[in-house]
Amino acid sequence: MPQFTCSICGDGFEQKSRLQRHIDTSHPPQAPSAADIEKALAGIDYPKNKEDLVQYAHQKNVNYRKRPF
Ligand SMILES: [Zn+2]
Repeated sequence: MPQFTCSICGDGFEQKSRLQRHIDTSHPPQAPSAADIEKALAGIDYPKNKEDLVQYAHQKNVNYRKRPF
């Protein structure tokens, strides 16, 4: 039974250092800088067309706006 368990994905580790390393590599902090965002978007065609944006927003808010029209 592993002593240390990742609170994010549930993976178990025998050593705390391994858990820490796992978190660093698999679950990096959710605070990207503007440069990181720019880099992440660099390979994406942006802005997308209107239909793509509507679809994206719909997926994001699928639980939020559930009323028909
Ligand atoms: Zn994990």
